[in-house]
Amino acid sequence: MKKLILLGASGSIGTQTLDVVASHPDEYELVAFSVGKRIEEARKILNQWRIPHVCVSRKEDMEQLALEYPDTVFHFGDEGLLELVSLKDGDWVVNALVGSVGLKPTLCAISHHKNIALANKETLVVGGKFVLEALKKYQVELTPIDSEHSAIYQCLQGVRREDVKKLIITASGGSFRDKTRDELENVTVQQALSHPNWNMGAKITIDSATLMNKGFEVIEAHYLFDMEYENIDVLVHRESIVHSMIQTVDNAILAQMGTADMRLPIQYALSVPKRYEVKNSDECDLSIIGTLHFEKPDFDRFPLLKTAYECGKKEGNACAILNAAKEVAVSAFLNEKINFLDIERIIALALEKIEYIEDATLEQVLETDQKTREFVREYLKGGMEWKQSSIF
Ligand code: MG
Repeated sequence: MKKLILLGASGSIGTQTLDVVASHPDEYELVAFSVGKRIEEARKILNQWRIPHVCVSRKEDMEQLALEYPDTVFHFGDEGLLELVSLKDGDWVVNALVGSVGLKPTLCAISHHKNIALANKETLVVGGKFVLEALKKYQVELTPIDSEHSAIYQCLQGVRREDVKKLIITASGGSFRDKTRDELENVTVQQALSHPNWNMGAKITIDSATLMNKGFEVIEAHYLFDMEYENIDVLVHRESIVHSMIQTVDNAILAQMGTADMRLPIQYALSVPKRYEVKNSDECDLSIIGTLHFEKPDFDRFPLLKTAYECGKKEGNACAILNAAKEVAVSAFLNEKINFLDIERIIALALEKIEYIEDATLEQVLETDQKTREFVREYLKGGMEWKQSSIF
C-alpha cells in the first residue's frame, strides 16, 4: 500500500490521480492533498474520503473548511505545501502543481525522504540541477508522469543506459501546428485552448500551442535521463499515438504507444515495475488508426522550442528567466492583454534584460524567478507601447 500526498488535486492531473486512487484502493491511499482556490473541489474529495491533512491557498478558505471538516487538519499558502510534504505519513508525493511554485515542495519532499511522482514541469526546468543533487543525497526515487517522459521511462526498462543513443520526444504540434506566422499573430484565446488531441489545463494548452511545452519537455528529459541536448530530438506526430521513443546504439527504435489517457502514465509512475488495469480505458486499435505521421518541427514558426534548447544548454538561471517570463506572458494572453506572438517577444525581452548567472545557486534561481516576474509585469503595465521598443 502506497500512501500518497497529492499536490494540485483540483487540476487535470490531480483529478485523474484521484481516479487512479479510487480505482485501486488496495494499492493507494490518499493521506493529504492540496488545492489552490478551488475549495469546492476540496469539499468533493473530503465528502468522499476522510483525509487527515489538506492545504488550500487562502487562510480564509482554510478557516471555513476547518469548521466544516473538524477531523481534518488544514494548512494554507506556500508554507502549507511544505508542511504537507514534511508529514511523517505518506511515502510518495504526486506533484501536479502548475508553475515554478512546484519546485520548493519537490525539494522539501525529497529532503523528507519522500519519493516523487512528477507532473510539475518547472521542478526540473527551473531547478533540475538542484533536484538531481537532492535525489542523490537522500536516495529517493523520482518517476515521471508527463506522457512523453513516461513513454521514455517505459522504453528504458531493461535497457542499459550506455546502450541508449538518442531520445525522441513526440509532439502533437499543438492547436496551431498548421498556421503561418501571419495567422499566428491574431489567433484568439479560444482557438488556442482547443487542443486537437489532449484535454489539459489552460496554461499547458497555450504552452503546447507555442511549443514551449515541448521545449520544457526537452529540458526535463535532459535531467531525468541524463542525456545531452544534442541527443534529444523532437518529432511532430499529429496522431499522438506514439508517446515518445528511444533509439539504441544498434539503431533500434523502441516506442510506447496507446490512446491519449493520462491515467496510464500517472498510474505507472506509482506502480513501476508493475502494471495495473486502467479502469474504462480504451484499447488502442492500430487497424482503425491505420497511418502514423512524423515530421520535423518547424523552429522558424515556433522559435520557443529553439529558445528552450538554448536556455537548457546555458543552464545557470537561464531557464528560470525563460519560465517566469513565460508564466506571466501566458497569463496576460489568457486575460486577452497581449497577442499570441507577444508571448515569445516578452520571453526574448526578459532573456535579454535579466542578468544571466552562469553558476547560479538555488537562492539566485529563485530570486531570478521573482525578478523576472516583476520585470515582465512592469513592462506590461506600460501598455502595448513596449512593442515599439528597439528589441523587436
Ligand atoms: Mg507532455
